[in-house]
Amino acid sequence: MKLSSGYPLSLIKNGLLFSYPKLEKNIKTDVVVLGGGISGALTAHYLIQQGIHCILIDARTIGLGSTCASTSLLQYEIDSPLHQLIKMVGEKNAVRSYKLGVSAIKKLAALAIKIGMEDFEMKKSFYYAAYKKDIPFLKKEFVVRKQNGLKVKWLDEDQAFEQFGFSCPGGILSDVAAATDTYLLTHYLLQYNINKGLVVYDRTPVVSIKHNRFDVQLKTKEKFIITSKKLVYATGYEVVDFISKPIVKLTSTYAIASEAFNSPVKLGKSNALLWNTAKPYLYLRPTNDNRIIIGGRDEEFFSHIKRDKLIPRKSQQLQKDFKKIFPFISFKTEFSWAGIFGSTKDGLPYIGAYRNLRNSFFALGFGGNGITFSQVAGEIIVSLIKGHQNKDADIFSFER
Ligand SMILES: Cc1cc2nc3c(=O)[nH]c(=O)nc-3n(C[C@H](O)[C@H](O)[C@H](O)COP(=O)(O)OP(=O)(O)OC[C@H]3O[C@@H](n4cnc5c(N)ncnc54)[C@H](O)[C@@H]3O)c2cc1C
Repeated sequence: MKLSSGYPLSLIKNGLLFSYPKLEKNIKTDVVVLGGGISGALTAHYLIQQGIHCILIDARTIGLGSTCASTSLLQYEIDSPLHQLIKMVGEKNAVRSYKLGVSAIKKLAALAIKIGMEDFEMKKSFYYAAYKKDIPFLKKEFVVRKQNGLKVKWLDEDQAFEQFGFSCPGGILSDVAAATDTYLLTHYLLQYNINKGLVVYDRTPVVSIKHNRFDVQLKTKEKFIITSKKLVYATGYEVVDFISKPIVKLTSTYAIASEAFNSPVKLGKSNALLWNTAKPYLYLRPTNDNRIIIGGRDEEFFSHIKRDKLIPRKSQQLQKDFKKIFPFISFKTEFSWAGIFGSTKDGLPYIGAYRNLRNSFFALGFGGNGITFSQVAGEIIVSLIKGHQNKDADIFSFER
């Protein structure tokens, strides 16, 4: 699968940060994490923290899956608005999912400090109405979030203009969100944990997996065998190679980054992440190297050939979208990229065991806030591997 293409800003900015070896022998471990994107890195982190011996394997060079394409907005706001999610999964689970997102962002912020990763900034998030007709929907969402204790404020047209300097019919200002560099965070997490005993191999595709009664055996393309008591699939969208259940709808998404401005750009007084109610939604944020990233313009297909042909056109459209919102900021596109995006029936991730695939667990943070879900997945899976009950596991199970 060609997960991303073009020039993702993170990759251009950071390059290939660290080298990791290829697996060239048979090995045994307690847990093997399959996938070295942000989901695998977070899961491995929580495993190592618990003193569990683990190795992490990736087919690609580390981070070059979806992770390097991420625009790295961290939001607790799931692609399904809370009032709609309540209808789909019930009030208790819907509210809990939102609250887990809030705590995931705070935990990621603490983790970034712990591992010395400086490109992490707490932000607010402004979810604004793209059209006047979206106001009743957004107001309903605001009321439900407020009733459930989420820290939100309603901004009407004038207040929104006052705060952000652009015109929109109104929206929800949330107190908790963050921006980071997910590719960098992934490498920092791996380096931190390598120092604590994690073993990482990249450029090592796993071509077959046997789920035995007491262990799992993974065979690599170069015919080496990894024997492990447990396996965590952190394979991102390529999970479709391993399970037949249609859990994720794959589409295409686009993003651009402006040239760097000479001084920091603030999108309004609140310096928030912005996203809107358009379908597909548009989102934007400033970066710590004085650029602006804007993304969206998704397409329903995921063929990379079709997707990549559209990069120049999507890039122009996104730049125009920006200029419509902030005509007074001179945005010049410098980098454009595209990637696969995956959404689920309810906007929630899939975390935990799957049918009869013995001794294995899945850490699949899908959707617009895949990264916050990766944090949630890491913690849940580690408690499941330790044989503990986790009261949140059912919310994200394959059986829901
Ligand atoms: C343009 C774009 C913008 C995005 N913006 C945001 C955002 O702002 N906020 C947000 O939360 N999310 C965003 N996302 C989504 C986010 O990037 C993903 O949720 C996240 O990167 C997924 O990480 P992952 O570790 O699960 O998957 P990946 O990064 O894809 O990692 C999975 C790894 O598994 C490996 N693997 C798979 N199969 C095998 C195998 N058989 N053998 C060995 N290795 C294997 C792959 O090589 C891959 O590196 C965006 C995505 C795109 C494309």
